[in-house]
Amino acid sequence: MDHRADTYLDGKWVESTGEDVIAVLDPSTGHCIATVRECGADDVDAAVSAAQRARPVLRAMPVAERAALLERIADGLEQREELLADTISREMGMPRKHCASYQVQTAVRTFRNSARALADVEFSGILGHSVVRREPVGVVAAITPWNFPLLQTAAKISPALAAGCPVVLKPSEITPLDAYVLAEVVDEAGAPPGVFNLVQGNGLTVGEHVVRHPGTTMISLTGSTRAGRRVSEVAAAAVKRVSLELGGKSASVVLPGGDLEAAVAGSVRTVMINSGQACTALARLLVPFQDLAEAERLVAETMAAYVVGPASDPDADVGPLASSAQRHRVNEHLERAPVDGARVIWAYPPDTLPKNGFFVPPTAFAVNDPRIAVAQQEVFGPVLSVIPYTDEEHAVSIANGTEYGLTAAVWADGDEPAMRVADRIDAGSIAVNGAPFNGLAPFGGMKQSGHGRELGVHGIMEFTEVKSIQRRPM
Ligand code: NAD
Repeated sequence: MDHRADTYLDGKWVESTGEDVIAVLDPSTGHCIATVRECGADDVDAAVSAAQRARPVLRAMPVAERAALLERIADGLEQREELLADTISREMGMPRKHCASYQVQTAVRTFRNSARALADVEFSGILGHSVVRREPVGVVAAITPWNFPLLQTAAKISPALAAGCPVVLKPSEITPLDAYVLAEVVDEAGAPPGVFNLVQGNGLTVGEHVVRHPGTTMISLTGSTRAGRRVSEVAAAAVKRVSLELGGKSASVVLPGGDLEAAVAGSVRTVMINSGQACTALARLLVPFQDLAEAERLVAETMAAYVVGPASDPDADVGPLASSAQRHRVNEHLERAPVDGARVIWAYPPDTLPKNGFFVPPTAFAVNDPRIAVAQQEVFGPVLSVIPYTDEEHAVSIANGTEYGLTAAVWADGDEPAMRVADRIDAGSIAVNGAPFNGLAPFGGMKQSGHGRELGVHGIMEFTEVKSIQRRPM
C-alpha cells in the first residue's frame, strides 16, 4: 500500500505538516489502497506564498513559452497514460478499460487545447484612445471533484497557466492520488517554482483555508452546488472572483420525428459511463407521449447490454460508485422514486451485482410528474428518468423546470427544429442531433449549475482581468 506524506510546493517535494490522514478506498472492493497525509495550515500558507512569488515570473513568460509549457505537460501525461489510467481506475472505480480514453486522453487534449487557444486570446487591443489589456487575475485556487479528477483539474490548471496565473490545486479527498502524478509531470516539464502547488485535504478544512487565504485572488471550483454556495460565501468576505462548475440535471429532448434510437443510445451512455457520475449526464429523457412505449422498450434493451463489474474486470462497462456516501445517496433515490410515483422500466438484476464495493443497480424510471425528486435532483448515479410530454411548449418547460442549467441534447428531424428548441433551453452547452463534444467551445452552467466558462479561449479569458489605459488622443 502506498503511504504519501509529501506534497509539491514551490517546485519541491516537501513533507506535509497536517495531522489527519486520508484513507483512499478502492470503490470496487471497499479496501484501503493508499493513505495520504493532509496538508496543514502552514503548507497552505507556503503554497500560496510560493504562488505569489511566481506571479511576476509567469506573467513575464512570453505567450509562446506558456503554450510550450502546456504542451510539455500534455506530453508528460501522455507518457504516463497507463499509470494514470490505473491510478484513477483504482481511486474512483471507473472500469480500467475506459480510463485511458475518458480520464487521461481527455485531460491531455485539454492541455493541448489550452495551448492552441492561447494564440486566439486578444491580450491587448485598442478601443478609441484606450489600450485594453487582459492581465492574469492573480493566484488561482483550483478545487476539483472526484468524478473526472484529472480532466477537471486540466480544465482549470491549463487555462489558468495559459493566462499567466500560478495555481494552488486542492484535489478531491476521495481521489488524491492522480494529482501526485500531475505534479511530477509539471515538475519535469520545467514549470518555474511556485507556478503549480499541490495541497491535499478535505474541503471543509484545507479547501476553506485556501479559499479564505488573503493571497488567493480567484477560486475556481468544480463540485456540488452545496460546495459552490459555501465557497461563494467564504470568498465574498474578500470580494474574490469565483468561477463555479456545479451540478446538472440535463435534459435530452426527443422531438417528434427525431431519431429515438440514437437519442436513447446517447442518453443511456451518459448515465452508464462512469456510473452516471458526470455533471453532463443526460439523466432526463423527454419523449413525445405517443413514443413513450417505444422509448421504454429501447431504454430497457440498451441498458441491459451494459455489464456491471469491478473496475479491473475487462468485461465491465459500469463500475461501482466512487464512495459509500455516493452509493447511499443513489440508493436513497432508488428507494424514494417509486414512492413518489415513478415506475421502474428496467433495473439491473440486484443479485448479479458484485457483493463487495460500492455498487448500485442501474435503473430506468418512467416519470409522469417531472417535479419528483428523481427527476429534479442530481442523482449522480446510473439512473435515467424517461419523461413524456404533450407538445413542444411542454417539452421546453420540463427541460427548463429544474434549478440546474448545465447541458442538454435535442434530437429532431433536421437541425433547424432542433436549433429552435436548443435556443429555448436554459443550459450552457447543448448538443443537437448527436453532435460530438467540442473541447474548444466554452463549457459551463446557467442557474444553479454555476457561472463562468471553461475550455478554449473562453476558459483562458476567465482567468484574466481587464484593464483599460487611456492615452491622450493624438
Ligand atoms: P463536492 O462539492 O463534495 O467536492 C468538490 C470539491 O470541493 C472537493 O475537492 C471538496 O473537497 C471541495 N469542497 C467541498 N466543500 C468545500 C468547502 N466548503 N470549501 C472548499 N472546498 C470544498 O463535490 P464532489 O462530490 O467531489 O463532486 C461531485 C459534484 O461535482 C457533482 O455535483 C457534480 O455535478 C459536480 N461536477 C460538476 C462539473 C461541472 O463541470 N459542472 C464537473 C464534474 C462534477
